[in-house]
Amino acid sequence: MSIPKLGAHVDQEDPIAEAAAREADLSQFFLGDPQGWKGPEIRADATALQNAPIDLYVHSPYVINVATTNNRIRIPSRKLLAQHADAAATIGAKALIVHGGHVLKADDPHTGVDNWRKTFERWHPPLPIFIENTAGGDNAMARTLDRLAMLWDAIGDFNPGFCLDTCHYHAAGEDLASIVDRVKAITGRIDLVHANNSRDAFGSGADRHANFDDGEIDPALIVEVVRQANTPVVCETPNGAAGQGADIAYLRKHLGRTAARSVPTPQAETPTGSS
Ligand SMILES: [Zn+2]
Repeated sequence: MSIPKLGAHVDQEDPIAEAAAREADLSQFFLGDPQGWKGPEIRADATALQNAPIDLYVHSPYVINVATTNNRIRIPSRKLLAQHADAAATIGAKALIVHGGHVLKADDPHTGVDNWRKTFERWHPPLPIFIENTAGGDNAMARTLDRLAMLWDAIGDFNPGFCLDTCHYHAAGEDLASIVDRVKAITGRIDLVHANNSRDAFGSGADRHANFDDGEIDPALIVEVVRQANTPVVCETPNGAAGQGADIAYLRKHLGRTAARSVPTPQAETPTGSS
């Protein structure tokens, strides 16, 4: 295999320069406040971003929860998701990433996946939407694989993409060595990998990302997930250009070795960023 495009989650001020500082092939960033309900910021540099020499991915705000049974969260979540999709399409982003969300502990999870179905039924996103697995919570839509299967039963026909986060599956107590095959058996696809180490133990439910050499996951296992998925990669790891640049360099080095050693597999290359 060839080495996939590698990058990092960077500050939104100048995502092209931030990628260059990390020798990255792509960058991911927010378009506004990740913790707030205010809509995305209008970018004065939209044309420069459209013509960027690297691929761009936008991560939607964390407050979005389109699965919830709470109307006062769900309805603004749909609106904010659509606004961010429009803004991401305007700058030529490859995709918008959004967390799977959750319902309350006492809720029937079928209501949550049905809320996802209604979101796509009423909406034609202007770019691919990648749903990401999450680390914790009692009643999350995309934490464990049994729930992911329920979600994909509800929305698979709308062809959403999937973003696999290694820290989040470690936190969810899902074995990383086999995760790519098990996810693909459900979704049929993986479009992006969030390659992160974790500060916490397997199954902890905690969402604290770490650099590859500074966490509880064997970094070789992160490389293996990336190798198996064979999709673009975003390191959402700490310590800025130095920390993320080292994580990207680690992947590039070890994927290169694996590629040199490995026997070609019959696995077809899946197109990314399309829906
Ligand atoms: Zn992530």
